[in-house]
Amino acid sequence: MLTIGHLINGEAQSEHTRLQDVYNPSTGKVAAKVALAPKATVEQAISAAEAAFPAWRDTPVAKRAQIMFRYKTLLEQNAAQICELVGQQHGKIVHDAMGELTRGIENVEYACYAPELLKGEHSKNVGPNIDSWSEFQALGVVAGITPFNFPIMVPMWMFPMAIMCGNTFVLKPSERDPSATLLVAELLHEAGLPAGVFNVVNGDKEAVDTLLTDPRVAAVSFVGSTPIAEYIYSTATANGKRCQALGGAKNHAIVLPDADIDNAVNSLLGAAFGSSGERCMALSVAVAVGDETADKLVAGLSEAMQNLKVGAYSDKDNDFGPLITAEQRDKVQMYVSSAEADGATIVVDGRNPQVEGYPDGFYVAGTLIDHVSASMKAYQEEIFGPVLCVVRVDNMQQGMDLINEHQYGNGTCLYTRDGEAARYFADNIQVGMVGINIPLPVPVSCHSFGGWKRSLFGDLHAYGPDAVRFYTKRKTVTQRWPSSSVREGVNFSFPS
Ligand code: NAD
Repeated sequence: MLTIGHLINGEAQSEHTRLQDVYNPSTGKVAAKVALAPKATVEQAISAAEAAFPAWRDTPVAKRAQIMFRYKTLLEQNAAQICELVGQQHGKIVHDAMGELTRGIENVEYACYAPELLKGEHSKNVGPNIDSWSEFQALGVVAGITPFNFPIMVPMWMFPMAIMCGNTFVLKPSERDPSATLLVAELLHEAGLPAGVFNVVNGDKEAVDTLLTDPRVAAVSFVGSTPIAEYIYSTATANGKRCQALGGAKNHAIVLPDADIDNAVNSLLGAAFGSSGERCMALSVAVAVGDETADKLVAGLSEAMQNLKVGAYSDKDNDFGPLITAEQRDKVQMYVSSAEADGATIVVDGRNPQVEGYPDGFYVAGTLIDHVSASMKAYQEEIFGPVLCVVRVDNMQQGMDLINEHQYGNGTCLYTRDGEAARYFADNIQVGMVGINIPLPVPVSCHSFGGWKRSLFGDLHAYGPDAVRFYTKRKTVTQRWPSSSVREGVNFSFPS
């Protein structure tokens, strides 16, 4: 059976001390084993990154950009193989994996723009014959720790810009679907990246803790669930590191009575059930304003859901695939049962579907739950499955209060034709990424991505302009070249 290892100092490496099963979630069968790096292996990756740093930092940024340009082409040429690996180990349908790769490549394209982004700031004559400038210097060795649900795109939120800024990188991807991440790392070396600049170690808590505590790691970017994000942020900062840790979500869409309900139904279907709801921007709560709106919405959704196709990743006609593990499938079904026990109405029940030819896959079909209330566990917690909860409110302000009081603040959306309401919503909602008639307002690569409240620990968001700030430290130089013929006096007052 295939054993998936690491990529350290440009070379594939493996060890067999601790191995973990990697599943094909569509079949429910073990497809490979992944090596879980012990502390010593992670330290070796950090050493490789540390050794590569001085030469890489001094490599002209335009030369670094040439490698990224070649990388983009290689990613496009190898798209089919990358998406196949994502499908095999994540379960995402191939067209969905292609969407993920495309958004990842956007970040590579933006990183190619680094020569412009790193130009710095210059002021002439800030004092008599004194010039001043700020430049953005690389941090050194930085680490990334990423989740299973976007094995290509989320690492690409991090390493392309970190590397373009002159840092060297150690990535610890999810141990549940590691192969696509390793392939895109190999392609970066094929594009000409020097050995040691980008290293990938597979592993679990032991590997993560080594990255969080090793003094040679200057900064940590994390994306994953909120309890782990909080742990990463507190441990990394306690160890003197810069840290950004993006966590979980519960994304609400408010549907106003004036919204185009047919369009809202179609848009909600994709945003709630695409990728089996395993997206941190998935819309998992529809907040209907007024019973009439709620009745129309529930009728439209339940009718359309009869045609949803859940099945194996390899059939492009399927709308979405399985969940990542049997445990995640059971957890999602537990949330549906808990809502039922709490008095909600299960309008479409996706528990235990029969998927022909794949009896052991980790499937849950699309599930719609009406009359959900704020006190229910299924409302308060992130389900991370193909489950859409409907909450009924009397007016938009009640819906906004629900969102503002929720522990998470990643994404949200308002469906309306009313510009005034939309503007009020965008101004006052306590959420980091807002859509108006846009269900998944994932910022494009020249903006930055991040939630509020318990969806993000740290100050700077991921990718976009914030990534340049996160992966560099500012240095401000003030300079003057006095004439040797002028004798200068002593001045004890503060320079002004
Ligand atoms: P996870 O938190 O279980 O794992 C994320 C990473 O942390 C993995 O690399 C994993 O190996 C590591 N990890 C897990 N347990 C650890 C521990 N005890 N100590 C140290 N490291 C540990 O998340 P997941 O299940 O892989 O991903 C799904 C979660 O990620 C969801 O909550 C989702 O909302 C969130 N997510 C958030 C965003 C965002 O941008 N906010 C994007 C994608 C996913």
